[in-house]
Amino acid sequence: MTYVGRFAPSPSGPLHAGSLVAALASWLDARASAGRWLLRIEDVDTPRTVPGAAECIMAQLRALGLDWDGEIMWQSRRGDAYQAAFDALAARGLIYGCGCTRREIADSALRGQTAPGADGERPYPGTCRHGLPPGREARAWRLRMPDGVERFEDRWLGPQEQDVARAVGDIALRRADGLWAYQLAVVVDDAAQGVTDVVRGADLLSSTARQRLLGRLLDLPLPRYMHVPLILDADSGLKLSKQNGAPAINTNAPLAALQDAWRALGFETLDGAADPAGFLARATAQWARRFPPPGG
Ligand code: GLU
Repeated sequence: MTYVGRFAPSPSGPLHAGSLVAALASWLDARASAGRWLLRIEDVDTPRTVPGAAECIMAQLRALGLDWDGEIMWQSRRGDAYQAAFDALAARGLIYGCGCTRREIADSALRGQTAPGADGERPYPGTCRHGLPPGREARAWRLRMPDGVERFEDRWLGPQEQDVARAVGDIALRRADGLWAYQLAVVVDDAAQGVTDVVRGADLLSSTARQRLLGRLLDLPLPRYMHVPLILDADSGLKLSKQNGAPAINTNAPLAALQDAWRALGFETLDGAADPAGFLARATAQWARRFPPPGG
């Protein structure tokens, strides 16, 4: 099967040092496998979309030599596909309306009705699973999460497992604000784009088990996964992100930006590269030795 990778940024701001690490790792993995590398703009969360950010990310990727293949997919244009997936799940009785407010969910956590998972996430307590309480209307639409432990092999981090029903509970697929949830969009789109390999930041590791379960419920082929290290903010120790003010990649110094991302992936500075193309050719060869193309 031909390798298909992707980079799926949310257009809430320009690429920063942290998001470049994920982009570079994903690009290198695709090129080292002689695969295709697709770009998907994850603008499903329209209130968080910053006008011009997608175009900025595209210009930054070009300046860094991280060229993508084929047409760009925009999640804001994919509503019909998400609706179809949602309807298929609903037809099997796997969706229910939920009337809980965020506040109520947080309160039930405070009352100790649910225990936080390893990353602090509080599972949905299941309040509306067997029907809306009298007088309540559905706000969000949730998936009945199947029981059982989901296991997978992460190409960077090794064997992983999560009891999704316990740790996460029934996830919302359609949010109270009417928007499709990222978790549904990503699963539908990875399959629609024929993605065989998801390479992304380790902040998404805890989403992977639920995405696999959802993919299986939708009878979709499941990709392989590799979650690469995050860059942490030196002061706060938190993941570098647009929200905590990470500066945009300086595309006037593309080689330096690529070298920084490369070192963040645990490699030694690549000497002797004069430009991004030269750097990327050598980095691809080294990547292929460290991570032989998956699937033979
Ligand atoms: N859009 C997500 C983000 O920017 C990435 C989703 C993914 O790679 O699965 O964090």
